[in-house]
Amino acid sequence: MTSGDMQRTNLLGLPRPQLTAFVAQLGSRPFRARQLMNWMYKRGTGSFADMTDLAKDFRTRLAAAAEVRAPEIVAVQNSADGTTKWLLRADASQAFEMVFIPEADRGTLCISSQVGCALDCSFCATAQQGFNRNLSTAEIVGQVWLACRELERAEATPRILAAHRGADGADPGGADERHVTNVVLMGMGEPLANFRNVVPALAILLDDFGFDLSRRRVTLSTSGLVPQIYKLAEETNVALAVSLHAPDDALRNELVPINRKHPIAELLQACWHYLDSRCGRSVTFEYVMLDGVNDSAAQARALARLLKGHPAKVNLIPFNPFPGTHYRRSPAPVIQRFRDELLQRGVLATIRRTRGDDIDAACGQLAGRVIDRTTVRLGSKTFGVAVQPQS
Ligand code: SF4
Repeated sequence: MTSGDMQRTNLLGLPRPQLTAFVAQLGSRPFRARQLMNWMYKRGTGSFADMTDLAKDFRTRLAAAAEVRAPEIVAVQNSADGTTKWLLRADASQAFEMVFIPEADRGTLCISSQVGCALDCSFCATAQQGFNRNLSTAEIVGQVWLACRELERAEATPRILAAHRGADGADPGGADERHVTNVVLMGMGEPLANFRNVVPALAILLDDFGFDLSRRRVTLSTSGLVPQIYKLAEETNVALAVSLHAPDDALRNELVPINRKHPIAELLQACWHYLDSRCGRSVTFEYVMLDGVNDSAAQARALARLLKGHPAKVNLIPFNPFPGTHYRRSPAPVIQRFRDELLQRGVLATIRRTRGDDIDAACGQLAGRVIDRTTVRLGSKTFGVAVQPQS
């Protein structure tokens, strides 16, 4: 194998300790890793040639051994409400998605952790395509890196990522809506089924020298892999969201089959353990509103009984139907009544506003996931609307 054939290391996949070790292998000192991270994450630079405060010979060695490579954009859709969805290449025939949702006080990026998903939730479009593969750490981090660059390019004003913590470590609050201030792992896939790659990606999102996001601005959403929730508590302290969708095991077994292995009581125990051990504020429970399935007043009362007295928030998500599903969205008055039943019983509940409907970006059927997962196969004609191929 010649040196030209050598596979270069994608630095987006290396948390600081691994990057420091990599830099040492190239004969440089640890502070070079911090300088590199500054260029990559604060300035959004992917070219070693542009990293002008690095010694020239170090840049040459870097260029031979490493790269900064984000996933390739296959297509992009822009909604009238400002939501943007990118289709990203996983390989020759598969793709995954990320979505940016701007709001008045935040810009939320919803990223994927797998191509497809094996968990087979009955209301989920991703489940229909089955599991293809895990995304690498570089592909997970690369989504955030890419979105920051694309949003800045769209705005044509070079800015670093907004919503960094203040010097005192406090979360500064209000931020520019066209910048990524919050990251949610609620896109395609079950993040805890890709634990090995997701945990290092979280470290880079939180690292002061990485994206420097406050832990409250990074949310991992799981369908309920209980053993991995306990493991997660040992590794990180990001916000936790759980796709609940039903107040009893019989119904949840049907909607979220992993419940047969890890029933609700076991799942809730794991959630409270996560909060206790990580000093978390609350767990968000996502609840997709399915007409005539899980949306009755009695079911709202049962849900309130499960969560009352615990640090929990319920996010009610109007279901977005997709081709092939037999579920329908609950009518708006039914969703409001469900929320009111919860509020009356002291359980904090909100209704998620649907976004990006004109680009099918706000599918909501996946526990508040805002991605249309019917569009993941490259080359197929299943896109909800025409997409603009990237040049
Ligand atoms: S809802 Fe989430 S965990 Fe369930 S099949 Fe879809 S992507 Fe997988």
